Amino acid sequence: MAKIASHFDCLVMGGGPAGSTVAALVAEAGFQVLLVERETMPREHIGESLMPETYGIFQRLGVLEQMQTSSYAKKVGVQFVNHTGKESAPFFFRQHDPRDCSQTWHVERAAFDKMLFDNAAKKGAQCNDGTRVLDVLMEGDRAQGVRLQTPEGSVQEVAASVVVDATGQQTLLASKLGLRRLNPDLRKAAIWRHFRGGLRDEQGGGVKTVILHTAKKNSWFWYIPQSEDTVSVGVVGDRDYLLKGRAAPEQVFQEELDHCPTLSGWLSGAEPIDKVRIDKEFSYTTDRAAGDGWVLVGDAWGFIDPVYSSGVYFALKSAELAADCIVEGLQQGDTSAATLGRWVPEFSQQTGLIRKLVYSFYSGQFRVGKFVKEFPQHQHELVDLLIGRIFDGHRGAIFDDLEPWLEQRAEQSEE
Ligand SMILES: Cc1cc2nc3c(=O)[nH]c(=O)nc-3n(C[C@H](O)[C@H](O)[C@H](O)COP(=O)(O)OP(=O)(O)OC[C@H]3O[C@@H](n4cnc5c(N)ncnc54)[C@H](O)[C@@H]3O)c2cc1C
Repeated sequence: MAKIASHFDCLVMGGGPAGSTVAALVAEAGFQVLLVERETMPREHIGESLMPETYGIFQRLGVLEQMQTSSYAKKVGVQFVNHTGKESAPFFFRQHDPRDCSQTWHVERAAFDKMLFDNAAKKGAQCNDGTRVLDVLMEGDRAQGVRLQTPEGSVQEVAASVVVDATGQQTLLASKLGLRRLNPDLRKAAIWRHFRGGLRDEQGGGVKTVILHTAKKNSWFWYIPQSEDTVSVGVVGDRDYLLKGRAAPEQVFQEELDHCPTLSGWLSGAEPIDKVRIDKEFSYTTDRAAGDGWVLVGDAWGFIDPVYSSGVYFALKSAELAADCIVEGLQQGDTSAATLGRWVPEFSQQTGLIRKLVYSFYSGQFRVGKFVKEFPQHQHELVDLLIGRIFDGHRGAIFDDLEPWLEQRAEQSEE
């Protein structure tokens, strides 16, 4: 394990997709970067279905070829199955835009995150895993560095001109500063596991992420086929519905599966290959994303919801935008909140489009196939949102019709 010096230009806490991306890009610009990860890499993580808009960031990081020659399952589209078992027509990305960048992957996160972590080292960052940040050292609102614990157990203080919080749901700095706000409308939980031998539908040259509602619409499943005949299957519902007063999680998973006959059929003959895992209360925002000498990226900045598989893309994108601000700040000797957080207003506004689509999904009225049949003019924008193409001038015209349509359906269902 490389020894840690006492000062860096940029210190990144957390070696997930966000942290490794910031570290790679700031190091590539010629600055001294330390990336610290508490786990030993590779480590497991949830979040396996990518959005196609990750393509440009992979290109910039220099890992696109590794992705293209990897054995990850190719993700070519998204499909929805409603509570009655009716399947929407698949939204195939290449039908929308035939370029290579319309295809993406279902990744095994341990290997994927390790690839990005190693890439940061290749670009010149010092990458230390097994190293936990214990605290961020502040002087007023200015971050000065961190106190960390090395794998051998010794505690060391390291100064840095910029401290990046990429600690994911741990939200180390946001929690310390009291900036984290749980989203009261999205108090969800998820229970998931992996199977071998489930249905593998390879139409369109790859697999799809499928989102299936259960019969009473109080939960939904993701179905994410991966390499080597494995599939990630997870159920998401209100935290209280899934976890309060119910049986053990493994049984709850099975009970919800019993309410989803289409998925039960796909998994008949499949074998679970790991234990069920649980996550809860993962939807939150932060009041502020940057201060003097610090910035939050990825899940440490916020997390909306897993339904559209936007988490890793937002982690990479926020990291890329923040890295450009950090480089500019270091070059100009200005690591103020204003410089480090310049990317935040547009990022918050545009990711708000996915937030709106999440709320539409949970309205209980969103029948995707029906909506695009009634409003074919919005199919293009809907697929753009599913691809993650939200940063090129999109203003969300789809919601001008979608929101009134959902309200109307809700009123009709009450009558
Ligand atoms: C149920 C569920 C399903 C999801 N499904 C998807 C999906 O299909 N597709 C998708 O794109 N996203 C999905 N996500 C979201 C995705 O998991 C995250 O958005 C993504 O991993 C964020 O990346 P990150 O780098 O910000 O954080 P992380 O990947 O969580 O990385 C943070 C790292 O920081 C490290 N760390 C934490 N504390 C410290 C410390 N004190 N010192 C040092 N290191 C520390 C952690 O060990 C971790 O490795 C899902 C999320 C949930 C909850």
